[in-house]
Amino acid sequence: MTGSLFFMHTFFNFNISGFLKDIILPPVCVLCGRLSESPLCDICNSEINFFGSDICSRCGKPFGYGPSENLMDASGFKEKFDKNITSDNICSLCKNEGYNFYMARSFSLYKGKLAELISVYKYKKYYYLKEVLAGFLERAYKFYYGIEKIDHIDTVPDHLMAEMQSTGNAALNHMQQLAQVFAEKIRIPFADNILKIKKTQRQQLLDREQRMMNQAGAFKVKDCLKVVDKNVLVIDDVFTTGSTLNQISSTLKNAGAQRIYLLTLARGA
Ligand SMILES: [Zn+2]
Ligand SMILES: [Zn+2]
Repeated sequence: MTGSLFFMHTFFNFNISGFLKDIILPPVCVLCGRLSESPLCDICNSEINFFGSDICSRCGKPFGYGPSENLMDASGFKEKFDKNITSDNICSLCKNEGYNFYMARSFSLYKGKLAELISVYKYKKYYYLKEVLAGFLERAYKFYYGIEKIDHIDTVPDHLMAEMQSTGNAALNHMQQLAQVFAEKIRIPFADNILKIKKTQRQQLLDREQRMMNQAGAFKVKDCLKVVDKNVLVIDDVFTTGSTLNQISSTLKNAGAQRIYLLTLARGA
């Protein structure tokens, strides 16, 4: 083989698949379309700010923001959150509400790039984003719950057990898939031990009281023995009023669980 033929042969054998793949489908950011090796480019990523410590110590509601962390801008989040501040780091909602969970925390606000990211993950089913999202949960987990003793992870099912049995559709939903990746990252087992047993309406259409009624009796623990005296971390995408997560916490507590910790990607107003 001549030198030039050898070069051509080596070049095409060595690199052809990656070379063509990058021409046809260059890696781009899922939100802005910029070239990026990661599904979320550095610029979009830099717009998603981790809450940190200025939050209600019970439900994780953020109290304020520093000059470098413009978490709450003109979107109205600031007024909505700030009016609930009390002097002892507990928001007024937590003082009045009998929550069934022990603590709730979120990675950031449900707005901007994080809201877009959750939306494409959940509704467009871009499940390759689960690695990025699990990274956000991991960061929040280590910061808020690193010293807590947590026995296993669970999440919110959205298919009725009866429907899944009749259709044979046992595919994991977006949160169950995320829980699997997150569980591997923090080395705590994902129990997948909660079933949905009642059809519910979309929460967005309901007021606070209707949400609580809507979720009442909606969930069931598959195996109570797995939760007795255990501390369970329940993850979800967004904490808004917390009524779904509070209902799941109640279901787990009634099955014998000790403490329920909540962790969500985002906190809604
Ligand atoms: Zn981007
Ligand atoms: Zn609170």
